[in-house]
Amino acid sequence: MLKAYKYRMYPTKEQEEMFFQHFGACRFIYNWALEQKIKIYEQDGKSVSRFDLNKGITMLKRDGKHDWLKEVNSQSLQGATLNLDNAFTKFFREKMGFPKFKSRKNPVQAYNVPQNYKVDIENNRIYLPKIGNVKTILHRPLGDGDLKTATVSRTSSGKYYISILVDDNREFPEKSDFSVNDTVGVDVGIKDFAITSNGDKIDNPRHLKNSMKRLKVLSKRLSRKQKGSKNRNKARQQVAKLHEKISNQRHDFQHKVSTKLVSENQAIAVETLNVSGMFKNHCLAQHIADASWSSFITKLEYKAEWYGKTILRIGRFEPSTKICNVCGYYNSSMTLADRKWKCPECNANHDRDINASINIKKFALQGQNLIGI
Ligand SMILES: [Zn+2]
Repeated sequence: MLKAYKYRMYPTKEQEEMFFQHFGACRFIYNWALEQKIKIYEQDGKSVSRFDLNKGITMLKRDGKHDWLKEVNSQSLQGATLNLDNAFTKFFREKMGFPKFKSRKNPVQAYNVPQNYKVDIENNRIYLPKIGNVKTILHRPLGDGDLKTATVSRTSSGKYYISILVDDNREFPEKSDFSVNDTVGVDVGIKDFAITSNGDKIDNPRHLKNSMKRLKVLSKRLSRKQKGSKNRNKARQQVAKLHEKISNQRHDFQHKVSTKLVSENQAIAVETLNVSGMFKNHCLAQHIADASWSSFITKLEYKAEWYGKTILRIGRFEPSTKICNVCGYYNSSMTLADRKWKCPECNANHDRDINASINIKKFALQGQNLIGI
């Protein structure tokens, strides 16, 4: 099983420069590789292999125009093509969004170190190829096992972290059997974070909601500051810091909810994101909600692996909101504003979200042939 260990890094000014060079070069290779893939697919309908892309990197280094690539750890450059491969796998297998070009303006910059780094717990430092020993607070020991890829990242407020994957060489437990009684359906809420088929509504915690309110205030303040002014810079840093705080609060909350769901149920049914909807230019709030939902599902999935539980995915094309979970009546007149409705066929009273999560559970179990249609 792979587990990640994350530590704060304190690079010197020179090391920081080198990190920037690595972020930039790996982003360049990632974008270049994505462009190659798109171009060659459009020209010949063929897919370029990672092997060919890595050969291409060697050619780029020799063409006289990209000498700066030689100053960067070459395994990290190849790590960028691996990242791209993973993004395509996600796109095809899990119907996630098509891989996007990376921007220097992304709030978090990162690069991979696949191997040849050394962790020195006693002296609180990690050796990185081309960079040297970087001061790192190793506040907890690495688990026993093989060291896999490490990822160095920089947050928008300027903090550095390294996340190290360790393979403990143990197999995942076998999946437990599941039935109607120990499967739960979970739906994304508009008002609440999530709703379960047991009727539980899981709300975002108050401190997270407060931070999001404050973000609105600070963002508005930032937009009013004059471009290039000192005050604008200050306001921008405030916004970046708050973004980080919100992201931490959100991850903590998602960890709690996902651990609880995985420990209390043998199977969890969820709806996957609407891929075609993701290409549309929808509002920022929806975009954040989608991103938050997909990071929540990622947590559910790896925890399910750890504990031998099952995640059942259904597509969002199934109209879980509009179908009566009791008699199957399709309520075509329902709008987004209808929070409660009464089924005209069987007179059942429905809470919109709970009804949807019961349907998600039903559709998922039907897909497994565990209940009749
Ligand atoms: Zn009904």
